[in-house]
Amino acid sequence: MLPQLRLALVLMSAPLLAQPVKTLVVTGGHDHHPAFYTAFDDPRLAPNVDPHPVAFRKDVSKRYDVAVLYDMVPEMDDARRANLKAFADAGKGIVVLHHAICSHSQWPWYSEELVGGRYRFAPETPLSTYKHDEQVKVSVVKKHPVTEGVDDFIIHDETYKNMWISPKVQVLLRTDNPTADGPIAWIGLHPKARIVYLQLGHDENAHRNPNFQRLVRNAILWAAGRN
Ligand SMILES: [Zn+2]
Repeated sequence: MLPQLRLALVLMSAPLLAQPVKTLVVTGGHDHHPAFYTAFDDPRLAPNVDPHPVAFRKDVSKRYDVAVLYDMVPEMDDARRANLKAFADAGKGIVVLHHAICSHSQWPWYSEELVGGRYRFAPETPLSTYKHDEQVKVSVVKKHPVTEGVDDFIIHDETYKNMWISPKVQVLLRTDNPTADGPIAWIGLHPKARIVYLQLGHDENAHRNPNFQRLVRNAILWAAGRN
């Protein structure tokens, strides 16, 4: 390639590469500390918060690159389900955080074809359990853009146990904490969308942990196809 042409291409693509990731943050159904939002304070991200019940009221696949789910809602109506599905089918990124794995427990598509895990509520057995204020020793088990720059660490956070976890997920982080199942972060399952699940993130202790913040940012960038 001619050097002039190469330079022209670089100049043309630079502004595109510099665009921050248009990030939809979905909340609702679970209270949380406002420190949660510090994870999005990064010039590479352009976040916008949309809580239930207005979240997914329309198809947002043209407006956003990545959806971060930090909601906990038992169900959504069919129109909203269709809009979340359309977002995944459009090949967008979805980062599922902490209690968002408890959402949509009666919607098998969400747990079995997207997230790759489910918090088990009655009548399903065994029931999943949670434990607050654990010292969680986290081990990085896979080199991946989501774990880039993260070494093994300890975080004060909540754990879940007796979850259903698909054997098809690609586990990134584990813990040997006895109140947890082992895998606490993984790559989910959708054939077109990039899906990350990160179990960490209960309260301010976790939200302000630099490893949590880095994992959330890495996950968003990877889900957007940026790293
Ligand atoms: Zn929690």
